[in-house]
Amino acid sequence: MKIHEYQGKQLLKKFGVAVPRGVFCQSVDEAVKAAESLGGNLWVVKAQIHAGGRGKGGGVKVAKSLDEVREFAGQILGMQLVTHQTGPVGQKVRRLLIEEGADIRKEYYVAALTDRTTQTVAMMASSEGGMDIEKVAHDTPEKILKVFVDPEEGLSAKQAAELATGIGVPAASVDSAVAALQGLFKCYMETDASLAEINPLILEGDGNIKAIDAKFNFDSNALYRQPEIVAFRDLDEEDPDELEASKHDLSYISLDGNIGCLVNGAGLAMATMDTIKYFGAEPANFLDVGGGATTDKVTSAFQIMLKNPKVKGILVNIFGGIMRCDTIATGVVAAARETHLSVPLVVRMKGTNEDIGKKILSDSGLPIITADSMADAATKIVAAVK
Ligand code: GDP
Ligand code: MN
Repeated sequence: MKIHEYQGKQLLKKFGVAVPRGVFCQSVDEAVKAAESLGGNLWVVKAQIHAGGRGKGGGVKVAKSLDEVREFAGQILGMQLVTHQTGPVGQKVRRLLIEEGADIRKEYYVAALTDRTTQTVAMMASSEGGMDIEKVAHDTPEKILKVFVDPEEGLSAKQAAELATGIGVPAASVDSAVAALQGLFKCYMETDASLAEINPLILEGDGNIKAIDAKFNFDSNALYRQPEIVAFRDLDEEDPDELEASKHDLSYISLDGNIGCLVNGAGLAMATMDTIKYFGAEPANFLDVGGGATTDKVTSAFQIMLKNPKVKGILVNIFGGIMRCDTIATGVVAAARETHLSVPLVVRMKGTNEDIGKKILSDSGLPIITADSMADAATKIVAAVK
């Protein structure tokens, strides 16, 4: 689960990481009032969406007067903000953060993330903050420093100082940077984050270290014990189809291709997508109906897939284990009828009650194309959509 920058900063602040003073707003008037109440003569107007790269896309603007705050807030609120993380359609801006302007002398990058290989928390830091960190990692990997932290022991002052010094924080500000790094680590651990990133962490003219951006991902398996994080959830930022799918207990992820896939089991779903790609087409979605797919669940799955206008065909790939093939076949027939299915449908099923399942499909009188192997199924659906 992701949250907004202004929410991430509330968390960071709670763990002792300094952040600029700011006010969350939802209208232009609120934004101007917020700037007035913050005082000073420099403000930052920031779009709040669940994606990074807002600055480059025109979603972060520095205002030198209240008139400019009004102007920028008006431009940004309601805009369709496109960044490298939103995809070409972008995301509509419904929320703003108005902050006091920072006196930036240097921008650093710091982050905490789960490192599965070493089973530790990787604390990363770079002198190249403010930019696209993926580009830094690609072009100049030596500029990204890492320490691996035992989650039980925590980030020691020594390790934090090693990172701070390594990225060139001036001696007078190292203590402040150590506090920020330790606060970030603690925040990451206690909120069950899987990523906590500050880009940039800045050095101000007075030597202080501050977080002026905050990006978090949380492990959704831990949300049951994180009510404070769950309360931050913003459904406006989530894919409506994925949201609908989660209500039916389906794991669904929208993709860019034109073949809808309905599969039981995440591993088989991944293999199915790979097979479709191997045979020269692209999947429109990942969809795992799980172990206990009822007719209702399959119908919902069909409806969700078919809402996507790009879908030109559907491939159902089922391994009948606990889930019996006849149950799925009944569900598929009912779903095809109920949705008045007009795109080609290829069904491959193997395993428990396979024969009964196949008979249900052929007895239905629907133009369902059956297939035996994965390759056969993929070849048939690829041919059908071309
Ligand atoms: P992102 O583009 O989504 O990562 O948004 P950020 O919050 O990181 O803002 C992008 C850039 O805007 C930062 O790297 C800074 O260079 C700039 N910026 C953000 N806040 C301030 C500020 O208070 N003063 C100034 N001068 N620049 C800022
Ligand atoms: Mn940033």
